Amino acid sequence: MKNIKTKGMIIIVSAPSGAGKSTVCNALLESDKNIVFSVSTTTRHPRDGEKNGREYFFVDEETFKKDIENDMFVEWANVHGHFYGTSKKFLSDTINKGKDVILDIDVQGAVKIKKIYKDALMIFITVPNMKILRERLIKRNKDSLDVIKTRLNNAEKELKYLPKYDYLIINDELDKSIENIKSVINAERLSIKRNKNIFGGILK
Ligand code: ADP
Ligand code: 5GP
Repeated sequence: MKNIKTKGMIIIVSAPSGAGKSTVCNALLESDKNIVFSVSTTTRHPRDGEKNGREYFFVDEETFKKDIENDMFVEWANVHGHFYGTSKKFLSDTINKGKDVILDIDVQGAVKIKKIYKDALMIFITVPNMKILRERLIKRNKDSLDVIKTRLNNAEKELKYLPKYDYLIINDELDKSIENIKSVINAERLSIKRNKNIFGGILK
């Protein structure tokens, strides 16, 4: 069965800012080497500890606009006042190599990707309540209070997109959330719809 080539799976993970998406995704990436992270390009300034090319490619607006003109992005959006875009080439190259890829993108981007890649898996991470979200954003200590306010205001709008997603993870206990995201991905990998091309091999 090993020589049957399957395309990688696109795993979209969205969440209101501060819900713990990066924490959960980093743990997943650490434990599953068949999944790679799609590094987006953004005009947001790097936070303390962020490195160009690891969390994001950090660029100015002029560069971002040139990238749009040059059709570099499979999707891009303005999120919380900054531009963010997903590399078209990296995404298609990665799934063509049979690697699964995580897109940590907002709800607007998620809908755009789903239109192009109909079998993309859509996972939404949230928190038990808004009070916890606020506390996490403050405790993270990376954004100003103004930025935190904008992100909390946007959380309500983002939650309206929930019905478009396949799975919901309420990130209360971190260990449980990591287990849950792994379970979702493993179940999808075993699904009939993602394994149609191996049927012939089984019958041989
Ligand atoms: P996001 O990527 O969704 O904006 P982060 O992963 O940066 O969020 O998490 C926001 C803050 O919440 C971080 O300080 C992180 O350590 C913390 N955090 C993440 N998950 C949990 C959890 N289950 N319980 C408590 N704190 C958490
Ligand atoms: P942050 O500034 O906290 O890193 O990210 C802010 C938001 O932008 C998050 O919801 C994140 O998922 C989203 N985001 C990151 N990269 C992209 C991207 O390439 N496209 C879109 N549409 N959203 C992105």
